[in-house]
Amino acid sequence: MPISRKDEIAENLAKVQEQIANATKSAGRNIAEIKLIAVTKTFPVSDLHFLYELGIRDFGENRDQEAILKTAELPKDINWHFQGQIQSNKLKSITNWASVIHSVDQFRYAKLISEFAGGQSRGIFIQVSLDEVPESRGGVDPSKILQLANEISELRNIELLGLMAVAPLQDKPANAFSRLQRYQSALLEKMPNANSLSIGMSGDFEVAISHGATHLRIGSSILGNRQPIT
Ligand SMILES: *Cc1c(COP(=O)(O)O)cnc(C)c1O
Repeated sequence: MPISRKDEIAENLAKVQEQIANATKSAGRNIAEIKLIAVTKTFPVSDLHFLYELGIRDFGENRDQEAILKTAELPKDINWHFQGQIQSNKLKSITNWASVIHSVDQFRYAKLISEFAGGQSRGIFIQVSLDEVPESRGGVDPSKILQLANEISELRNIELLGLMAVAPLQDKPANAFSRLQRYQSALLEKMPNANSLSIGMSGDFEVAISHGATHLRIGSSILGNRQPIT
């Protein structure tokens, strides 16, 4: 008998949670330091309800329109994360539903989030480009992290949580995440509170955990393959 969609998601989630627990233990870290964000982009709202029933309270979306529809249907005690490419004309709406925005790579975006936040602070990550050709897929050139962090730290209603990255296509995740950890060390000398690290997707979350990840953004390992979108 084919298993139900809910059972399928429950099985996948349990497996991912076990892998996270094992990788955390191997890295000598505490599971309380690690937040699992279920990246639900492209999946139907019914899947999000199942994840909610399974205890997930952090959801990640990449598209404003899609997220608006989903946030309207889910309970209110959810933290919504945005990790897609930012377009300034969407930022007001995104700031309205997202409590954490992972993909800030320009000061003007942070400034808009600060303006739209309306007295309720938003968490943001600086997205760092780990690509050979920096900024080709979004993310700030590593040489600009400190300056951007300094500018952002002046803004109201913004909590700079730390750095975010997507593993590059042409390098091993372990190498890329090691580089990111060096950038993080430099940042922490100036801003000890910006100590979160948003790295780790379905293909590399165990490596990410061994490199200090605090926010895992995992989609397909939990929900299955999706139609390719950016
Ligand atoms: C889609 C996406 C994820 C999740 O990717 P999976 O490989 O499905 O786990 C994580 N981060 C970002 C920025 C994404 O766009």
